[in-house]
Amino acid sequence: MSQPISPVSGQQASDANGQGQLVTRLEAENQALRARLAFLLEQVERNHAIMGRHQAFDLELVGASTFPELIATIFRTLPVISELDGVTLSLVDEGDDILVVMEKLGVDFSAFPQMLFVQQAGELGFASPVPAPLLGAFDAAVHGARFPGADAGLRSVALVPLLRNKRLIGSLNLASNDALRFTPALGTDFIQHMASIIAICLENVISNEMLKYIGLTDALTGVYNRRYIDRRLLEEIARAKRQHYCISCMYIDIDHFKLVNDTHGHQGGDEVLREVAVRIRHELRRSDALGRFGGEEFVVLLIDANLDSATFVAERIRASIAGMPFDLPSSAQTHVSVSIGVASLPAHASELPIETVAQQLVAHADQALYQAKANGRNQVVSAAASVA
Ligand code: GH3
Ligand code: MG
Ligand code: MG
Repeated sequence: MSQPISPVSGQQASDANGQGQLVTRLEAENQALRARLAFLLEQVERNHAIMGRHQAFDLELVGASTFPELIATIFRTLPVISELDGVTLSLVDEGDDILVVMEKLGVDFSAFPQMLFVQQAGELGFASPVPAPLLGAFDAAVHGARFPGADAGLRSVALVPLLRNKRLIGSLNLASNDALRFTPALGTDFIQHMASIIAICLENVISNEMLKYIGLTDALTGVYNRRYIDRRLLEEIARAKRQHYCISCMYIDIDHFKLVNDTHGHQGGDEVLREVAVRIRHELRRSDALGRFGGEEFVVLLIDANLDSATFVAERIRASIAGMPFDLPSSAQTHVSVSIGVASLPAHASELPIETVAQQLVAHADQALYQAKANGRNQVVSAAASVA
């Protein structure tokens, strides 16, 4: 800016002086505004990038179709995109329903130490009846259990309630090594939005897994149903054929079960069915599959077991059922026995279609069972010929 032209009166001089100061102030303000604008633009760009990453994260969450896939996505991606030093989930699981079903579906929780379960919603420590996020300094005594295995650097935490239809289903636990990352004054709209997406996705995959479980298991005994065993048998035969190992099949039928029902009622019969399933399961390896084929018949697939070792296991099952009386709901007791037929598929199976091989394997075990019944029951018979 140019200076005013002289000569000037005192009044003019002071006006000019005032104008000069105004211009300087405006220039300074202009500069400050520019700097602020640049800062805001940078922030917008950063937030835009974060939003973009979070949108991609949201899509990944929505796309996860199984429980392990969903939690793996959360634990892998969230610490990176949100620059966090600890991310865990606590789920309310009364009676261990979720845990048991997921384990039955083969989820290995040792791979997810960040996945925590509590029995009661009250254990999560949120206000009731309207749970709100809890933000503040990390306190090992209070928060340590929420971040198992985390390093000692955690300084601030945000515990965000996971809500579905106003019901508290869990908590999303975020931690940072930066003491100022989560303070009680921080706005929580963003993390609450994220928690609501996670809550919806969790509920969704858990319902799906429960449905899957119900579709594959027998409601009375909790073991697999026939549909599952039929499908699993095809998978196992294909794998055994590729990797050249034996699989065996047991057909188990309770002896004179009609008599148990006639003597102790249907409820007594049901209790015997449940306990027989428990005793069979107890003699098997984790890799073996036990299914109820209907009525009082069970089928077991033994993976990497030849006829001799399967027969040995069958004999153990027979003995454990016949060896101890069964307690009934009426507080009566009854003795139960089973007959078992065993058949095997050799390590180098035939070139027949897998479906045919599966049918033959079960049919051979069934024929051996028939023989066990004919021989007087409470015994194991191994199929003479292995499947072609
Ligand atoms: P066997 O030694 O020849 O096998 O004689 P069994 O009496 O065990 O065989 P049978 O096939 O004559 O009878 C099976 C019985 O199982 C008849 C049926 O009422 C009963 N049953 C089938 N499903 C259930 C069930 O879910 N609960 C109960 N309590 N009984 C069942
Ligand atoms: Mg039967
Ligand atoms: Mg029977």
